[in-house]
Amino acid sequence: MTAPFIPPRRTLMGPGPSDVPQRVLDAMARPTIGHLDPAFVELMEQIKSMLRMAFQTRNALTFPVSAPGSAGMEMCFVNLVEPGDTVIVCRNGVFGGRMLENVKRARGVPVVVDDAWGAPVDPDKVRDALRAHPGAKALAFVHAETSTGAQSDAATLARIAQEHGALSIMDCVTSLAGTPVRLDDWGIDAAYSGSQKCLSCTPGLSPVSFSSRAVERIQARTTPVQSWFLDLNLVLGYWQSAGKRTYHHTAPVNPMYGLHEALVMLEEEGLENAWARHRAMHEKLKTGLEGMGLQYVVDEAAHLPQLNSIHVPEGVDEAAVRARLLNEFNLEIGAGLGDMAGRIWRIGLMGHSARQENINHCLQALEACLR
Ligand SMILES: *Cc1c(COP(=O)(O)O)cnc(C)c1O
Repeated sequence: MTAPFIPPRRTLMGPGPSDVPQRVLDAMARPTIGHLDPAFVELMEQIKSMLRMAFQTRNALTFPVSAPGSAGMEMCFVNLVEPGDTVIVCRNGVFGGRMLENVKRARGVPVVVDDAWGAPVDPDKVRDALRAHPGAKALAFVHAETSTGAQSDAATLARIAQEHGALSIMDCVTSLAGTPVRLDDWGIDAAYSGSQKCLSCTPGLSPVSFSSRAVERIQARTTPVQSWFLDLNLVLGYWQSAGKRTYHHTAPVNPMYGLHEALVMLEEEGLENAWARHRAMHEKLKTGLEGMGLQYVVDEAAHLPQLNSIHVPEGVDEAAVRARLLNEFNLEIGAGLGDMAGRIWRIGLMGHSARQENINHCLQALEACLR
């Protein structure tokens, strides 16, 4: 007989998932109801409304995709990119590379704007690319590159896209609820995020939001969306119009309870207070890490509070340290990805993980391992 699975108790300070508060876990343990039950429909309406608060938008089309952040990304690209559309894609880390892959698979024509890993997206290069490709339909960029810990200037990038008549598609998986995200002020047309980073819910849901310009673009498509599951025209019948909901897929009912609770907690704290907490905790962690002689990968001006990437000191076996942190201290931190594998650590301060006791634990554990 296989025994029930009892997970170890970890402190999650990697690139996600983050620590999930007991309140969110308790919410998920409530009784399952039908996904077309009027009570569930009401829950969905409240989730949509609280997500608008988190994204700082009035976009009617704001809801959680029933799948992880990568599915929210794919939803943006398969709906907004038609075969032959030119899309400017900014790549300064792993996730920009994934956007590029999405554009290609949607049979768009990508124009890549490369920046060094660890640097933010350079707006001048983006302007040049849009000038060189006046017919470009969209600009795609990652606001908070979790692979490096660099934050780009989303407001400026979105404004440049608008000046050139291109839609803006933004990855805010790691930024949402951790650092200011203001879809309407910035004029972002499509954004996707994830439940398991600064929202501190369990993984598996992807909040998305689309402007009316984006919706018009989707409605004006001349080719059908290649993905049945992610076709917004079909999903809309399920997520919109509170009165008449039609079956599209079975929503993950209990994870939605969790997301609802996480958003209630965000409302209670206040969005701006949550941003300020991430910033304050980042400053404390930084002081501690630099006090131990560890160095940040990213220039200070582009530091992402919720993702701190630091160089592995010379002569240290980085994988052995991470294994010791996990086994002796029950602490998870992240390794480097792609070009940075083996050379950096990524310490997350996302959502519920961005608190003083986690910082103390992390600094003490690292100190013990590096001594
Ligand atoms: C985590 C992450 C994703 C992917 O989210 P999943 O939930 O793992 O699919 C996409 N973009 C960024 C910037 C991320 O940090």
